[in-house]
Amino acid sequence: MPYDPENIFAKILRGEIPSTKVLENEQALAIEDINPVAPVHVLVMPKAAYVSGADFSARASDLEIAQLHRLVGRVATLKGLDETGYRTLSNHGPDAHQEVDHYHVHVVGGRDLGGMIKRIGN
Ligand code: 5GP
Repeated sequence: MPYDPENIFAKILRGEIPSTKVLENEQALAIEDINPVAPVHVLVMPKAAYVSGADFSARASDLEIAQLHRLVGRVATLKGLDETGYRTLSNHGPDAHQEVDHYHVHVVGGRDLGGMIKRIGN
């Protein structure tokens, strides 16, 4: 799938739509999720254009990959989650119900998150 520069996170990264910044570094930005599913729900995204985790892992530089993951860790620490725990996840494609086609990692915590994924069918 080609990258759509009109996706919502591209607009946020260009400053065309407001967001609540949590942290950033040279290569990545962390913002509050607009519809949080837990007391802490932060989205960490590369500043450059990548559609998904598959695209990011295939094309991003080592620096971009390192800085994105370092920002995830800094967000968790800033939000006080290192002791209580948290979940990181990213949705890729239709089976995962990816809504915004700019790669991002969800950092979710601040409550008991339960088991990972509910089994549906077999
Ligand atoms: P996905 O399903 O693509 O992994 O998750 C997209 C996430 O982006 C959702 O958790 C949704 O609440 C969040 N989101 C959608 N639109 C906006 C927006 O305009 N601003 C922010 N901060 N988050 C958004």
